[in-house]
Amino acid sequence: MAAAYLDAALNRGEERVADISLVESPDVPRVGVGEATIPNINHILTVIGIDELEFMREVDGTFKQSIKYVNWLEGKGEHYHHPFSRYRMTPLDRASQMWLRSDRSIPFMETVSAQPVICELGLSPRMLGQWDFGPPPTYAFHMNALKFADYLTRIATARGVTHYRDHVNEIEQAENGDITAVKTRSGKRLEADLFIDCTGFASILIEKTLGVGFEDCSQWLMCNRAVTMHVDYEHHYPGYVRPYTTATALSSGWVWEIPLQNTRSLGYVYSSDFISDEAAEQELRAFEGNHAESLDSRIVRFKVGRRQHAWYKNCESIGLSGGFIEPLESTGLYLSDLATVMLTEHFPQHCDMQPMAFRFNRIMANRFYEILDFINMHYCLTRRNDSEFWREIQQPERINDRLKAKLEYWKMKPPSAADFQDQFLPGQADSPIATGMMAGDYRTPVDTAGLWNHESYEAILYGMDFMREECDERFGTNRGKTRLMRTIVERLQAAPHKLPPHDVWLQRAVGMKKYQ
Ligand SMILES: Cc1cc2nc3c(=O)[nH]c(=O)nc-3n(C[C@H](O)[C@H](O)[C@H](O)COP(=O)(O)OP(=O)(O)OC[C@H]3O[C@@H](n4cnc5c(N)ncnc54)[C@H](O)[C@@H]3O)c2cc1C
Repeated sequence: MAAAYLDAALNRGEERVADISLVESPDVPRVGVGEATIPNINHILTVIGIDELEFMREVDGTFKQSIKYVNWLEGKGEHYHHPFSRYRMTPLDRASQMWLRSDRSIPFMETVSAQPVICELGLSPRMLGQWDFGPPPTYAFHMNALKFADYLTRIATARGVTHYRDHVNEIEQAENGDITAVKTRSGKRLEADLFIDCTGFASILIEKTLGVGFEDCSQWLMCNRAVTMHVDYEHHYPGYVRPYTTATALSSGWVWEIPLQNTRSLGYVYSSDFISDEAAEQELRAFEGNHAESLDSRIVRFKVGRRQHAWYKNCESIGLSGGFIEPLESTGLYLSDLATVMLTEHFPQHCDMQPMAFRFNRIMANRFYEILDFINMHYCLTRRNDSEFWREIQQPERINDRLKAKLEYWKMKPPSAADFQDQFLPGQADSPIATGMMAGDYRTPVDTAGLWNHESYEAILYGMDFMREECDERFGTNRGKTRLMRTIVERLQAAPHKLPPHDVWLQRAVGMKKYQ
């Protein structure tokens, strides 16, 4: 993805800015997970110049309009959605104040977005003919990640990126520590000005060669493994293709369900401190049902945390080598996207690398912590106490200080755009990053709402019934019914006549096979 994007972004103008080579080991398999995306993927596809329908055919793609969270609050079958589209009340957006004063008889997100119900109806976000259904909804994709990488490789190499199937086994450095060349098993010596470490958790350049440390964040996000399996539709077809990702909380973590055109991907993300690999696998099979008994499964281990300097000397880490936050909001590929886009913006073409690296690192660090807070919040608002994992996750030391300050502040007033402008909230600890190497590196991370604004925060907070007791105290328990905006009612009435079922759209528009 980085090679294809950089080539498209840097080399398509009048001047060819960079000669790009991609070295991939034939012996080290790719991690292969990363099947759910968020709408930012559309920027990558557009810049590379990829047609949406062709992309969906190539990667077994389906639409994703939301993440549905099941059993996160009490573990009794309850659910809420975090959809990608939402309406704003104009001229004054008082949606959350009104909802908080109401009896909550309609889930908050359903009062501001038609997408949760459109998802539950299993409808596609695109029509089969010309679009004539008001503002188009925002969506992302589910896809086969390996096919996506192969597809991008074909595009990039056709345009001039050199692709080596070779294993890097030696790295040369200059006296100042810069990397000068990588040597491969077949005897090649590849020189470059800038190296991008895309070697996944192996991190052979940024960590093993340059020694850049890793900041562990498992105190706040305890999951460190996933057991994954695929339920091919030939084996078991549930009868529909959901237009959203489902994240269902289990005893020691949660399971993703990601529907593709020919298979459903399942992955139980869990903490090995609370459940063994064998028990997690059994729990996943029991969750899926009898037909999962014979399916192959795989354990993926991961570390939650960030590279202390994503860009150090003349090496930049993109992807898992630069850090990882567990996949609850599908942010893995997004962080790679962001790093790639930021590298393009800060490409050291006519200047020193270091100031570019400094800005790059600052932006990446802020965004990392922004995502960390947001995912941390999904867990710590739970009321589940049915397992050791869920009891532990609510302990005060499992909630980071920035998030604590946010939650306290949002008890006084609902989240709004201004909360992210100055970025410091009352009571927020001034907690610098521990391991800076340049002046300014030590500055406290700030949430610039670069990915999730107050509206996304509201989706999770009110999905998790935030402020229930406080509202009962303030407004009494006998409150007026929750009301729906007329625009949403009208849209939902028309939706089934305009939008086809997701599987029907996939069959007709991109040739998905029909399963019984
Ligand atoms: C459990 C889990 C679930 C995830 N789910 C999602 C999700 O739903 N959505 C999302 O956006 N992201 C998700 N991610 C993140 C996503 O999988 C990764 O961001 C993405 O796959 C990028 O991986 P990568 O390229 O950094 O590493 P890898 O896929 O591991 O690729 C590493 C590459 O480096 C090469 N290599 C390694 N060593 C050498 C060497 N010595 N010489 C030459 N080449 C070498 C390998 O051959 C390979 O090609 C998930 C991650 C995990 C762990």
